[in-house]
Amino acid sequence: MICIRSHAVISFLLILCVCLFSRASFATNQAQIPTQIISNDTVKLESFRMGYFVDKTEAMTFADVQPQTFIPSANGLSLGTTSKVTWVKIELENANTSPIKVYLHHPYAYHNSKVELYEVVDGQLTRARLLDMDDKTTLQWMYRGSAVFDIELQGWQHKTLFVKSQAFSHQWFKLNLYDENQSKRALLGLYTDIALLVGMILALIIYNFLLFFSSRLREHFFYACYLVSGGFWIALSYGLLADLFDVYGSITLKWHLSLVSMPIFILLFMINIFETKKKYPVEHWALLSILTLLIGEFIYGLFDIVTALKYSSTLAAIMMLVTLCVTLSMLVRKQSIALFFLLGHGLFIGFSGLAVLFYKGKVPFNYVNSHGVGIGIVLEALVLALIIAYRIRSLESLKASQADLQLLASTDPLTQLFNRRHFSLAANQLLEQAAQAQQPVSIAMIDIDHFKVINDTYGHALGDKSIKQVADVIRSQCRHEDLLARYGGEEFVIMMPDTFGQEGFSLSERIRQTIETMTLKIGREQSVSFTISVGIAEVDAADPDLHDAINRADKALYQAKNNGRNQSQLFTE
Ligand code: GH3
Ligand code: MG
Ligand code: MG
Repeated sequence: MICIRSHAVISFLLILCVCLFSRASFATNQAQIPTQIISNDTVKLESFRMGYFVDKTEAMTFADVQPQTFIPSANGLSLGTTSKVTWVKIELENANTSPIKVYLHHPYAYHNSKVELYEVVDGQLTRARLLDMDDKTTLQWMYRGSAVFDIELQGWQHKTLFVKSQAFSHQWFKLNLYDENQSKRALLGLYTDIALLVGMILALIIYNFLLFFSSRLREHFFYACYLVSGGFWIALSYGLLADLFDVYGSITLKWHLSLVSMPIFILLFMINIFETKKKYPVEHWALLSILTLLIGEFIYGLFDIVTALKYSSTLAAIMMLVTLCVTLSMLVRKQSIALFFLLGHGLFIGFSGLAVLFYKGKVPFNYVNSHGVGIGIVLEALVLALIIAYRIRSLESLKASQADLQLLASTDPLTQLFNRRHFSLAANQLLEQAAQAQQPVSIAMIDIDHFKVINDTYGHALGDKSIKQVADVIRSQCRHEDLLARYGGEEFVIMMPDTFGQEGFSLSERIRQTIETMTLKIGREQSVSFTISVGIAEVDAADPDLHDAINRADKALYQAKNNGRNQSQLFTE
C-alpha cells in the first residue's frame, strides 16, 4: 500500500516537474530574444536571432507596439501578404568600455514602401528614423537600394532596436549588422550575382534580336521579348535597378507588369515553335485562351496594378498547367523539341513554385528560395536557347535538302550539265545582267554529227558515252561564268557572257578540234571517233531576246551541217 502510494507521489512530482520545466522553456521560447554582444572584434552578423510582431491593424504607433510580445525568429523573414506591417526587435549590447558604431543593413529596403527604426535605452526612446520610399527628403539612410542605419553604442550600453517594415504586398526582408569596414564590403558586392544573371540574359536578347533581323522568324522575336520581360523583372525585383538608378517606391509597382508580359511572350513563342495553328488546333485553342486571359490582366494592370497582381499567381498557375499539358501532348506526338521545352519549362515552374512558397511565407528565407523566379527564368532561358539552336539546325538542313532537290531537278543525270528548263531560266537572268552592264553575249549550239549512225552501228551505250565525252570537253574548255546545258538528245548549248561572236567562234573551234582528235574505245582493240558541228551567234545588243538568239545560233548550225559538218559557223545576217 505504502509502496503504491509512494509510487503515485513520485509520479505526480515527476509530472509536475516535467510540466513546470516545459512551461518554463515554452515561456523562454515565446519571449526571449537573445542579446547580440558586440565586442571589439570584427562585426559581421548575417545570421542572428531577433523577434517579430505583425501589426494586422496596420495602424499601431511605436508606443503601441513596444510592449507587445515579439515572436523569436531568424534575421530573415518571409511572411506573405497578410503581414504588410511587421515590426522587428533586436537586442544589442556593447561589451567594451569605449563607444562603438555598428551599421544595421536592410538590403531589400527598395522593395518596401516604408522602413522605420527606433532606438530604445532603458525603456526610453532615444532616436527615431523614418524612410518613406516615395518621399525623397527622408532617404538620407538609403544607399542605392539598401537602407543603412548607423547605430552608436556607449561603453557597456544595452540598446533595443525596433524596425518597422511596411511592404506594398508581400512581406519579406533580411537584416544584417556590420562594423564600418564590413558594412562597406557588404554594399560593394551586393548585386554582382543579379548583374551576372541579367548580363547573361542581355547577351541572349541581343543574339535573338539579331537572329530575328537576319531570319525574320517570329519565334526569335518572341523569345527575345520574353527575355526582355524576364531580365527586366529580375533587375527590378532583385534590386539591380534600385542599385543602378535609385528607383524604388510606388513608381516601380507598375513595372511589375513585366511578370505578366513574360508568360504572354512564352505562349507566343510556343505557338510559333510548335506551329500549333497549322498542326495542333486543340492545343492552339488552349494556348490562345490563356493568352487572352493574360493580355486581359496586362491591360487591367495598366489601370489598377495592385488588383491585377493579386490574380497574377492564380493566372500563372493556370498558365503553367496549360503549357505543361500542351508540352506533354507535343511529347506524346513525338515533337522533337517538346522534351527540351518540358525540361526548360519544368525548371522554371519548379523554381517559381519554390519562390511562390517563399513569398507566401511557407518556406524559410534562403538564397535559392528568395531568388526562385530569377533562377527559374535564367535556367529556362538557357534550355530554350537549345531549342532555338535545334530549330536553326533543322531549318538549315531543310534548306540544304531543298537546294539539293532543286539542283537535282535542274541537272541532266547523264552529263551532269544543266537541263534545258534550267538553262532557259538562268540564260534570261544572264541576258538581263549583260544588258545592264552593256556587255556582249554569245551563244553556241552544238550537235553531234550523224549521231543516228553511231547509235545504230555501235549501240545506245556507246551513243551515251559519246554524249558524255562531248559534255566533258565542253566543261573543260569553258570558263566558270559560262552557262552550259544539254539542250536535247545530242545537242548542247553554251551561253558566254562578256564574249563577242568572234571569240565565241574561237572557243567553238577549240571544242570541235578537241572532239575530232579524240577516240572512244569499243572492246579491247577497236575504237571510234566522231565529230560535232557548231553554230555561234552574238546576241543582238539592241534586242537581247533568248528565243531570237537561239534561233540565230540554230540557223548557223544548220549552215554548218549543210556545209559538210565537222565545222563551226558564226551567224551573219
Ligand atoms: P546530224 O548530223 O544531221 O545531226 O544527224 P544525226 O543523226 O545526228 O541527226 P539528229 O541530230 O536528228 O539525231 C538525233 C538522234 O539522237 C536521235 C536519237 O535516237 C538520238 N538520241 C537522242 N537522245 C539520245 C540519248 O540520250 N542517247 C542516245 N544514245 N541517243 C540519243
Ligand atoms: Mg540533233
Ligand atoms: Mg546530230
